[in-house]
Amino acid sequence: MRVFFQLSWFFKQEKRAYITGILLLLIVAFLQLIPPKIIGIIVDEIHQKSLTSVKLLQWLLILIITGLMMYIFRYFWRKMIYGSAVKLAKELRNKLYNHFTAMPQSFYQRHRVGDLMAHATNDIQAVQQTAGSGVLTLVDSLATGGMVIVAMAAAISWKLTLIALIPMPLMAMLTNWYGKLLHQRFSNAQAAFSQLNDKVQESVTGIKVIKSFGQEKENIGDFESQSANVVSRNIAVAKVDSLYDPTISVIVAVCFLLSIGFGAKFVIQGELSLGELISFTTYLGLLVWPMLAFGWLFNILERGRASYERILSLLAEKSDLYEKPDALDIVPSGNIEFRLNSFTYPGEDSPVLKDIYFRVKRGETVGIVGRTGSGKTTLLKLLLREFDAEDGEILFGGRSIKDYKLGKLREAFGYVPQDHFLFSATIRENITFSSPGIEHEKAYEAAKAANIHDDIMQFPDKYETMTGERGVSLSGGQKQRVSIARALLLDPEVLVLDDALSAVDAKTEEGILRVLREKRQNKTTIITSHRLSSIAHANLILVLAGGTIAERGTHDELIELGGLYKDMFERQQLEAQVEQGG
Ligand code: ADP
Repeated sequence: MRVFFQLSWFFKQEKRAYITGILLLLIVAFLQLIPPKIIGIIVDEIHQKSLTSVKLLQWLLILIITGLMMYIFRYFWRKMIYGSAVKLAKELRNKLYNHFTAMPQSFYQRHRVGDLMAHATNDIQAVQQTAGSGVLTLVDSLATGGMVIVAMAAAISWKLTLIALIPMPLMAMLTNWYGKLLHQRFSNAQAAFSQLNDKVQESVTGIKVIKSFGQEKENIGDFESQSANVVSRNIAVAKVDSLYDPTISVIVAVCFLLSIGFGAKFVIQGELSLGELISFTTYLGLLVWPMLAFGWLFNILERGRASYERILSLLAEKSDLYEKPDALDIVPSGNIEFRLNSFTYPGEDSPVLKDIYFRVKRGETVGIVGRTGSGKTTLLKLLLREFDAEDGEILFGGRSIKDYKLGKLREAFGYVPQDHFLFSATIRENITFSSPGIEHEKAYEAAKAANIHDDIMQFPDKYETMTGERGVSLSGGQKQRVSIARALLLDPEVLVLDDALSAVDAKTEEGILRVLREKRQNKTTIITSHRLSSIAHANLILVLAGGTIAERGTHDELIELGGLYKDMFERQQLEAQVEQGG
């Protein structure tokens, strides 16, 4: 029952629909009492030979009117209660979606996408059921059950009612026990389903890798065993589930047995008329549904509670990116300064960055180079506050980046990540993603600067060409250039290119960077790259090694120094010569 309290905020919100629905339900429960009573009266009148055709017609008319009213009221309470339950699902879905959107990277590191999808589908469905069928069965079984029992006891025989209900406590105990078992097993089944979801999600995203390594068979085998796991856990649920109906049928049968046995005795002794006994057993028949419903109720509520608690625990997860209550509501600008002692990813043991101290004047270009894994991307993520560093600080415009509202801070950056991402939308929509209504001219200009305009004009629908699953597939280099156009259109205070041109050739990259230099004269640019030639012009070059700054300076200074940078540069020159010569 606790889940009803947990959902009380929603019931309050939908007060009118629920109250109307429940009132109608109560009326129907009452109307149900009429037919058995009339049947009993008719039987007694036949028995006493006092039934005339006029009387019979009157009774039949009442039966028909009762039936019609029940039909109409049933329709309306269903509409009220089930209709509200759908609204609850919608609200929860929206809440989850908003929450997912607001969560930082670290949230997605803790939860896998398949798991989150399972919460957004299965769990919400279970909660919806609680607010619909759950409320219905609770009210209906209590109201119908209660009224029927009162009718039996008050209008017919309280003695026979007590006798007929002897098996009831046993049923309550059994269904309660089943409910507990079911809760446990249902949670297990749900967890297995989440895992399976993950598997599918991962396989679909990684299908290229799976195929290219010829791992389809192994992958299918994996899937099949996880799928079998889901089945076996659901069978465990079904086993308990299946016990409900037979158990209740047996108990109901015992109730009938007792009432027919003792009832017949009472009729013979003259305590009860024949018609009353018939009414009584018909009432008993009416009790079957509330009893079954009561069994289901536990089942539905257990599922609803398990699911709602999972949803709540997800919603309760706070973003670990702290925003001060009095955070500055301005887009930062000015110099950027790293004063970072160390940074360790959440849940990891050793730091990935150590002693990162440097300063970029507004309008300057910084190049960051280093092997894969040396910490370049991490450094940029800290600047954008995808993660927060505790030991040390990063200043922007003379203040800690944590002093600004998160949204405002991010507005200062145009970020082109390594793993560029295009939406399934037109090329124009992809470029103008951050500023939808912008004039077409501006989009063309950005595309030209990113050296992708000519490519786009070759596509069948030019800027209106769809990309992604339903459209043309772009090459890696084309995708990168579209991503750059997207960032350029923002004309951000700070442009961050994280190895963003790795898939275009050196000449194209140089061309794009030259245009960037011209266009962004007083704006800061941070570039990480494998190709040293692309950052040679930077005002400051940092060479990262093992998470710390191993060398720093301009290109000329670093060549002069004769260390890591010089080695890398010479090797790349040699490679370029070989390529050209070849
Ligand atoms: P680079 O950009 O120079 O290739 P990264 O900054 O991506 O380097 O990675 C630096 C180190 O941090 C690597 O050892 C990598 O495995 C680790 N790392 C990167 N991202 C995460 C993460 N989200 N959680 C834990 N470790 C990470």
